[in-house]
Amino acid sequence: MWYNLPVETVKGEEKMQKLLLIKYGELTTKKGNRKTFIQLLVRNIQSILGNLDYQIHYDRVRMYIESDDIETISKKLQKVFGIHSIVECFKLHTNMDEISTSLVEVLKGVSFQTFKVETKRADKSFPIPSMECSRQLGGVVLKNFPCKVDVHHPDLTIQLEIRKEGAFLYVREIAGLGGYPVGIQGKGLLMLSGGIDSPVAGYLSLKRGVDLECLYFESPPHTSLEAKNKVKSLATILNAYSGNIKLLVVPFTALQEAIYKNVPESYVITIMRRMMYRIASSVIQKRRLKVLINGESIGQVASQTLSSMCVINSVTNIPVIRPVACMDKLEIIEIARKIDTYETSILPYEDCCTIFLPKHPVIHPELEKCIEYESRFDYEPLLQECVENIEVVSLKEKKEELL
Ligand code: ATP
Ligand code: MG
Repeated sequence: MWYNLPVETVKGEEKMQKLLLIKYGELTTKKGNRKTFIQLLVRNIQSILGNLDYQIHYDRVRMYIESDDIETISKKLQKVFGIHSIVECFKLHTNMDEISTSLVEVLKGVSFQTFKVETKRADKSFPIPSMECSRQLGGVVLKNFPCKVDVHHPDLTIQLEIRKEGAFLYVREIAGLGGYPVGIQGKGLLMLSGGIDSPVAGYLSLKRGVDLECLYFESPPHTSLEAKNKVKSLATILNAYSGNIKLLVVPFTALQEAIYKNVPESYVITIMRRMMYRIASSVIQKRRLKVLINGESIGQVASQTLSSMCVINSVTNIPVIRPVACMDKLEIIEIARKIDTYETSILPYEDCCTIFLPKHPVIHPELEKCIEYESRFDYEPLLQECVENIEVVSLKEKKEELL
């Protein structure tokens, strides 16, 4: 069902004020932290709405946004974690005649055959009980439109909230993303490749309130500028949920070439990933981030068997979060499609993990062998060089500083 809600007048000069009402998500269960949650949510909304023209009002129960461009704002709010639902509503005086007239106006733009009315009377000083309000409004609807009441599966649910500041009438509630406000948990470092899994891992972390910086390993000339731009596009898509994400690009060529020169072929990927973890850990310390996040999924490739994960993970004490570890590829793809990263992820550019793939990568690597192979070359200065020459790429089209 689709319709246009009229914004115009009810009784000649009196305007119905159309605004967005935002219902908070999971934070309502966290009583002690409520204030911090709401303030962060407001900050996040402000950074995602940028320069748009709007006014925001909030208390511990609800948030309202006034704007002349409610459609645009509503779309952007659908990417803000911590919002349970977004409601286009009309603010009216708490007067049943005015509410009834307004309701008829609102419903003129709506097609429906069945409906129900739900009333919440938060302001108990309003003299008419909720059930009676619903009954009266139901009568008004039945009188003016060819329709029936259906309390179980109505085409349309008309909702009225009577509060101290006015009566709020709405018929359309858009589901928000839920989750926690981004940043409430601090920041993690996402290893972002151009693949399908890591952007999904990033999205799921953002959903739990973890803000991100993204780390991308590039090996030019073996990997191309297109590959890097693809990762930048993915980071930009993720940034719509945060507003604060930075992309850090590690120049990985010299270290990767040294690995290929010194390590037996079956172990090159294992050692390469141990080096990636070392670099990521030192970036996390340097930038005061909390955890490492990646798109590893158990058993997906040789470097993601539990044995491989153990020897790779053993180079760091920093907690590693793997949001898609237990998902099937199809489940991951479903989320990638939903968040619009899929089409970008499947563009056919190479990644440093996919160039020079060994024919038979080791499936159950041994830690002693890793240590022995790594002792064959002096990798410390190469690691240091990688960290020191990280480029911070702004998601707004210009290069920024060196780390
Ligand atoms: P994705 O897992 O993102 O779909 P992929 O499957 O090609 O890409 P894998 O080889 O499975 O990548 O690597 C596992 C994880 O390691 C990735 O999800 C990502 O977090 C990280 N990773 C791989 N290559 C890179 C890279 N070039 N830069 C940063 N992180 C990387
Ligand atoms: Mg993968």
